[in-house]
Amino acid sequence: MTAPSPVLELRNTFQRGITRPLRWRRDQLRALRRLLLDNEDALTAALHDDLHKSATEALMTEIGVVVTEIEHTLSHLRRWLRPRRVLVPAKLQPARARIVREPLGVVLVIAPWNYPVQLVLGPLVGALGAGNTVVLRPSELAPATSRVLADLVPRYLDHRAVRVVEGGVDATQAMLSERFDHIFFTGSGRVGRIALEAAAPNLTPVTLELGGKSPLWIDDTADLEVAARRIAWGKFVNAGQTCVAPDFVLTTPQCRPVLEAALTEAITHLFGPDPQRSPDYARIISADHLTRLTKFLDDGTVVAGGLVDESDRYLSPTVLSDVDPNSDIMEQEIFGPILPIVEVADVDAAIAFINERDKPLALYVFTGSASTRRRFQERTSSGAIVSGTTILHPAVPALPFGGVGSSGMGAYHGERSIANFSHDKAVFDKPFHPDLTRLIEPPYSRFGRWLVRLLSTMRLTPSRPAATVARGGFNTKGSR
Ligand code: NAD
Repeated sequence: MTAPSPVLELRNTFQRGITRPLRWRRDQLRALRRLLLDNEDALTAALHDDLHKSATEALMTEIGVVVTEIEHTLSHLRRWLRPRRVLVPAKLQPARARIVREPLGVVLVIAPWNYPVQLVLGPLVGALGAGNTVVLRPSELAPATSRVLADLVPRYLDHRAVRVVEGGVDATQAMLSERFDHIFFTGSGRVGRIALEAAAPNLTPVTLELGGKSPLWIDDTADLEVAARRIAWGKFVNAGQTCVAPDFVLTTPQCRPVLEAALTEAITHLFGPDPQRSPDYARIISADHLTRLTKFLDDGTVVAGGLVDESDRYLSPTVLSDVDPNSDIMEQEIFGPILPIVEVADVDAAIAFINERDKPLALYVFTGSASTRRRFQERTSSGAIVSGTTILHPAVPALPFGGVGSSGMGAYHGERSIANFSHDKAVFDKPFHPDLTRLIEPPYSRFGRWLVRLLSTMRLTPSRPAATVARGGFNTKGSR
């Protein structure tokens, strides 16, 4: 029997204004921080059950990321929510205009399995900070983490405003058939399309945090030893099951052999001679995913790794060479610990290769040349461009995190999360006196036309310098 939908109750909570005061929002964020810090062991154990994630990785890439996001939000929330005064054109004076951030209502957060704490609770920080009520849908493919979250969330957060809905794909489908004020989806493009279609009848706005193939360029002006370690870490953390992991490498024929040797050494440095015995190396989420990944091994020559143990859902950190650009591994998102290396003639060929394909979530550039970095930045489009390292940029809360084109729409983290889960309402106030608008009302006179012409060609004049204003139409009563 399926549980009754919580949406009606959450809508009621929202309409009663419970989530609006700044005090309530800050209290919820503090409670969420307590949830994470009090239950580090339970969360870490669940992540180990689901993904064989090491405790350090769980702290660094799941719990710590959300705690940082909460700290950043608590420090700035009051300012981010302050109404902002904007200029009113002279012809509309006297009047005042400002932008007021208001919450959207009831939000649905759908999460994938690969970072099952971060990608459920990270969006929740923004949704609560913006004053919404929230349904959380953890992935059924990380069942231990889903269970722990379903247990902890009602013990720490306001049950009137936040619910966890567990279950399989049918539970997500049931939620998608409900009316929400915003859907925040993280996952594949395939299911992202399903979420968009479900949102269309109600014109519900949707944020899509998707994946795809994130390319990496490296040339021989880079410090190859440092680069190889940073590439191997970013690729093989969580066994490659990271949306911003470098998907494939583009490099020159001269650089390729040196890079292959450096990557092989880096893998041993990170995970020892037998990564299966390393406590720091994760497992593939399911047998089906392992089967899909194993097929990719035929698409090139194994330079390092290539070992599979089905009984342990293990695939060793793998580097592939001699990869055909038209093979399956170069057509689909890999989302696992296989790093193909593709040779291209030079930077121009690499840029052309990238631009012929979908816009990536991240693009990585390893080079000592500032002009090469600039060329990638100016001539390609991606959710983010990062040089000298991999996968660290989402940890900067002030940077927007999101894709472009087929890697997603919308962004979050820091203030972008608050903007994402809010409506920026236009507020315009005009006093009754002096009643100057009567001069431009019908019946139109010659003077009226002269005045309209004059006013239409005037520049904007501030009624006061543009600034944030302390008070506005936004109810943050009881704030602190
Ligand atoms: P997925 O799209 O298969 O599943 C995501 C969510 O959708 C799950 O909660 C699942 O319950 C639900 N779902 C699955 N099939 C459904 C259906 N038919 N109808 C309705 N709901 C359905 O993605 P995944 O396998 O969990 O995650 C991997 C993908 O997510 C990769 O493409 C990866 O790049 C992407 N990803 C993106 C980010 C990001 O922040 N941009 C982060 C992590 C993962």
